Amino acid sequence: MADSQLYVYNTLKREREVFVPLHPPFVSMYVCGPTVYGNAHLGHARPYITFDVVCRYLMYLGYKVRYVRNITDVGHLENDADVGEDKIAKKARLDKVEPMEIVQRYTLDFHKNMALLNNRSPSIEPCASGHIIEQIQMIEKILAHGYAYLSQGSVYFDVQRFEKDYPYGELSGRVTEDLQHNTRELDGQSEKHNPLDFALWKKASPEHIMHWPSPWSDGFPGWHIECSAMSAKYLGETFDIHGGGMDLLFPHHECEIAQSLGANGISPVRYWMHNNMLTINGQKMGKSLNNFITLDELFSGNHPLLEKAYSPMALRFSMLQAHYRNPIDFSNKGLEDAEKAYEKLSAVYVLLKEMNWAGTTVNTEIEKVLSSFEKECVDAMNDDINTAVVISNMFKVSSYVNQFYSSGKTEGVSKEAFEKFKNAYLLFYRDILGLLPDQQMERSNEDFDKLVDSLVDLRNSAKKEKNFTLADALRNVLSQFVTLQDLADKTIWKHEKKK
Ligand code: ZN
Repeated sequence: MADSQLYVYNTLKREREVFVPLHPPFVSMYVCGPTVYGNAHLGHARPYITFDVVCRYLMYLGYKVRYVRNITDVGHLENDADVGEDKIAKKARLDKVEPMEIVQRYTLDFHKNMALLNNRSPSIEPCASGHIIEQIQMIEKILAHGYAYLSQGSVYFDVQRFEKDYPYGELSGRVTEDLQHNTRELDGQSEKHNPLDFALWKKASPEHIMHWPSPWSDGFPGWHIECSAMSAKYLGETFDIHGGGMDLLFPHHECEIAQSLGANGISPVRYWMHNNMLTINGQKMGKSLNNFITLDELFSGNHPLLEKAYSPMALRFSMLQAHYRNPIDFSNKGLEDAEKAYEKLSAVYVLLKEMNWAGTTVNTEIEKVLSSFEKECVDAMNDDINTAVVISNMFKVSSYVNQFYSSGKTEGVSKEAFEKFKNAYLLFYRDILGLLPDQQMERSNEDFDKLVDSLVDLRNSAKKEKNFTLADALRNVLSQFVTLQDLADKTIWKHEKKK
């Protein structure tokens, strides 16, 4: 464990708090997953990268993280409402396939894109349709406690009744009187005693194809209950971290709190963490605005708003360059800048990985900057996961690494400080920020190594054949790029000169 403490901003309490898990060294974390009715898109990048880094950092601190991220494959209706068509069923109807074919297709697409972004897989990835029984059991508890009612075969959460015992709206800061005022009467809401009430179970209409038997009707769960039921099942009635985008604060996360309190009498989450939103050229992303960009489109450049293709790592980097609680406005210029910055830090990673200490003097300034690198990165991460500061620390040290590389010596730093710094840079770049080295750069390095090997072999053959003119010519060429050393039985070479 690091000696300093991790602080995180708790959305519910509206303040930074020291993070102390309920059962150390274990950390339980739940993040709302995607509704799989379309291709993974830009909006998916930010929350899943954010909480991937949170998970990676907790692991670095020595915690054993159980990270649960669900797949919503039923119950999420159009416009996030309690009436209307199920998003998955609608897509299935339009594509003339089974709903589960839609789920399969887009779950695979989601996984593929998460892997490209180098997000680690969650420990458990439960789907809503696989947990109907748990959801029914939770609804039964809420009903038994009097916080829900049955209406024409559907079950609704009774917000007014709940408010007599518990606060409602604390997380999102919404006051029920204001909500009352702003809620339009929608079709089907007549089933509700109050427009604020939300569906726990919906009776399926005859045309609704995804339905299950329940004590109340053949129907399907409301959108919010799956997260409450599945987080309680896999993480316990109270768990450490619940993450998601700010857009889920209301109603989704507010309803999760109410359901858990209604069923179990305990607040489910100790630290609520929310990432801020991603806008596109200042606007919210949406299909109606023609600014909806899938990850496939981003990585291929195949979208009218894109000037070129951007790599998954450029996207990941652009997300981590900002603090997760700050908004990000997506633009070609922004991504291009992020891509260039990523390539610079990636080059430092690739160089540093192969670099060994070789120096004679210690320069106080260089020694100080490199020795404090790890602590500064840890401090930044402990300050509510400030990846932006980690990245700026990486830039601060990059000039030293480039200087070491071009001079072929790590002059100015002690062996101990260099090794500590090298390990810290590799760790923060690869394991904590989850950045992969630029593939092109790695490939060109591999190709280069192969070329050097072949030229060294050729030179040795020339020597054997006593063709010293050729052997010397090859030595001169190679020496411009690498350092050669002839041993009794073979020649070794090192990447010490600039390529
Ligand atoms: Zn959720």
